[in-house]
Amino acid sequence: MWRATVLTIFPDMFPGPLGLSLAGKALAAGLWTLDAVDIRAYASDKHRSVDDTPAGGGPGMVMRVDVLARAVDAAAGANDPRPRLAMSPRGVPLTQQRVAALATGPGAVILCGRFEGVDERLIEGRGFEEVSIGDYVLSGGEIAAFVLLDACVRLLPGVMGKEASGAEESFSHGLLEYPQYTRPQLWEGRSIPSVLTSGDHAKVEAWRRAEAERLTRARRPDLWAARLAGKREKPPTQRSKKPRGDG
Ligand code: SAH
Repeated sequence: MWRATVLTIFPDMFPGPLGLSLAGKALAAGLWTLDAVDIRAYASDKHRSVDDTPAGGGPGMVMRVDVLARAVDAAAGANDPRPRLAMSPRGVPLTQQRVAALATGPGAVILCGRFEGVDERLIEGRGFEEVSIGDYVLSGGEIAAFVLLDACVRLLPGVMGKEASGAEESFSHGLLEYPQYTRPQLWEGRSIPSVLTSGDHAKVEAWRRAEAERLTRARRPDLWAARLAGKREKPPTQRSKKPRGDG
C-alpha cells in the first residue's frame, strides 16, 4: 500500500481536497494511506514554538531544526524506505515523470514549510530532497503537498477508472494533450471537427497526433525542443563495455 506522511503545523488541513473524488475514494478503499503529523507536538517549550528568528538577521522566521528532526524521526525511522521530500520554491521542479516514479514506489514523507522556510541543516541531516511545484511562492508547503499527492495518487493501480486514460494525457509522451470534444455536435455555431465523428480510427489518431504536436510547439517550445533533442540521441550501442574474449 502507498503510504504518505505529511509533516505540517496545520494537520487539520488534511486530507482536505484529497478526501473527495478520486483520491478520497481511493483513501476510503485503502489503496493509499495519509498520515498528517503535527510538527508542533514535537516542540519542547511551553509555548510550543516551532520557529525562531533567522541567523544573520532579516525578516520572518525559520522553522527550527531540532523540532523538525524530532517530528521526522518519530514519523519515519532511519529504515523507512520512502523518499523524503521537502516542499520548497527552491527545489527541483516536479514533473509528470517524477510523479510516475513516486507512484510506483512505497509512498513519500513530505515536509511542509511555513514562514521563511526550514533550517538548512534539517534538509542535509535528514536526507530530504527539495521539490518545487512551480516558479511562484506559496505561503506554505501544504498546498504544494496536495498537488504532489493528488498527482501521485491518481496513478496508483485501481484509482483511475480507465487505466488507459493515464497513458495518453499531457506530458506522458512529451506532448500536450489534443483538444477534447463531446456532445452536442453543434454549439453556438461551433461544430466538433468532422474527423472525430467520421468513425475512421486511423484518421482520428492522425488528427490527434497533429493537434498535440501543434499545441506543444505553440505553447511549450521547451517541451518541443526537449522532444526533438531526445529523438536525435543515438540508441545505446550494442557493444559491451568490457572487451570480449580477453585472455
Ligand atoms: N523564503 C522562501 C519561501 C518560503 S514560502 C524562499 O524564498 O525560497 C513558505 C513555504 O511554502 C516553503 O517553505 C515551502 O514549503 C512552501 N512553498 C512556497 N512556494 C512553493 C513552491 N513553489 N513549491 C513548493 N513549496 C512551496
